[in-house]
Amino acid sequence: MASRPLSRTKILATLGPSSCEPVKVREMIRAGVNAFRLNMSHGDRESQAAMVATVKEARKELERPVGILADLRGPRIRLGQFDPSIQFKRGAEVMVKVGKTMGRDGILPIDYPRLVKDVKVGHRILFRDGRITFKVLSIEGNKLLCQVKTGGELCANQGVNLPDSVVSAPALSAKDREDIAFAVEHEVDWIALSFARSAADIKAVRRELLKRELDMPIVAKIEHPLGIENLDAIMKEANGIMVARGDLAVEMGHAVVPTLQKRMIRKANLHSLPVIVATQMLESMIDAPQPTRAEVSDVANAVIDGADCVMLSGETAVGQYPVETCRFMKEIAWTTESMLFQDNWRLRPGVEPHGGHQAESPEMATVKAAVCAAQNSEAKLILAFTESGRSARLVSSFRGQAAIVALTTIERTYHRMSLMWGVRPGMISSVNRIRDMHRFAAHYLEKHHFLRPEQLLVSLTGTFAVSGATNTVRLIRFNQLA
Ligand code: PEP
Repeated sequence: MASRPLSRTKILATLGPSSCEPVKVREMIRAGVNAFRLNMSHGDRESQAAMVATVKEARKELERPVGILADLRGPRIRLGQFDPSIQFKRGAEVMVKVGKTMGRDGILPIDYPRLVKDVKVGHRILFRDGRITFKVLSIEGNKLLCQVKTGGELCANQGVNLPDSVVSAPALSAKDREDIAFAVEHEVDWIALSFARSAADIKAVRRELLKRELDMPIVAKIEHPLGIENLDAIMKEANGIMVARGDLAVEMGHAVVPTLQKRMIRKANLHSLPVIVATQMLESMIDAPQPTRAEVSDVANAVIDGADCVMLSGETAVGQYPVETCRFMKEIAWTTESMLFQDNWRLRPGVEPHGGHQAESPEMATVKAAVCAAQNSEAKLILAFTESGRSARLVSSFRGQAAIVALTTIERTYHRMSLMWGVRPGMISSVNRIRDMHRFAAHYLEKHHFLRPEQLLVSLTGTFAVSGATNTVRLIRFNQLA
């Protein structure tokens, strides 16, 4: 496959045994990965710390912005520990208990203390994304007698869904708090909360972060009916959302997921929030060097819907072709975007009122002016100077054709912008005059061959060192920038 320029849609790849070696991480970055996900439900502290260190070394060596997202288990229920895997036959009766490990009793452990409180006789217990189903026949003490309705093989630590039960687990467990402490200590760039059900869940994560004196952007993983019901309130608290299609399908039924995906992306675009589409995007590439045509369509449709980012899970964590999968994903995203741009694709018209708010903030009005100026003058690039990444995020949400280069003096912001559609983050030295900013920008753009001398660009600046104070738009030829 020929090498292509970077796609606007970003790629988030999950790290795991297939991809955690330094050489693989570098190959994946070169193949188009913009950020890595660390699934905190798996691995021990040592392996998690090693993964963070590997990504940080690779991004430094390759001089690229690469984000690290720590994905908290949250109120996600999982099987306990046992080895080897167990095969269950349809119709068989199985005993299930509350517990972290199987022990000598041989009873299947589910690591959720409130299991017997939340589950009632007749409820379903689902495993492996709903591929294996038990029905509860009776409950005694901390044990449940179940019947296997759909059989198959189960391994330790796999996800459990209780679609008929009201799950009363708090947003954060003791383990989640330890994981947050780890994320802060190792200075990852983003944190994600699985099974976000309300704005209060996101606030709980924020409180834990602030206790440790580090705020960090939070992605709400929407994979539970309550997450859908409370989406507006969640989006006010969170800094991004993930359409976590695996559990969403198990909890709400497969058929509603495509439409929910479109609705969530549309809403996130209007609120200028980054949105990630996740799960089974190129699933067959876990074992095969080529995706299916349906998978190619799925990735392309997420791009067409307006996702900021598409995610790989098992494909890169445990698959046989992690690098090839990333390359395919980038190729699909790049090709789809190029064809859409030929058709004058625009998800969010630049001149319509902002859908997420009643009144326009001065910052939003300025960003819109920049997007319109680029569109009407055919400027090739919007240059945003940003402290927090906010102005880049607002520009990105318009999905314009002009390239977006976001320059910052803050390394954390530089890597955090890696999840935002179309944003090319760059680092510059600290400056305190617009003329100096433009001088640094000219040097940066020249080094990366973004523009020809006579081409127009739009510069977006604000009050120095104040986030949210973007107030100036300039239309300049590249050769007049410095
Ligand atoms: C999902 O269910 O789609 C998902 C992303 O969740 P997990 O992190 O458990 O893979």
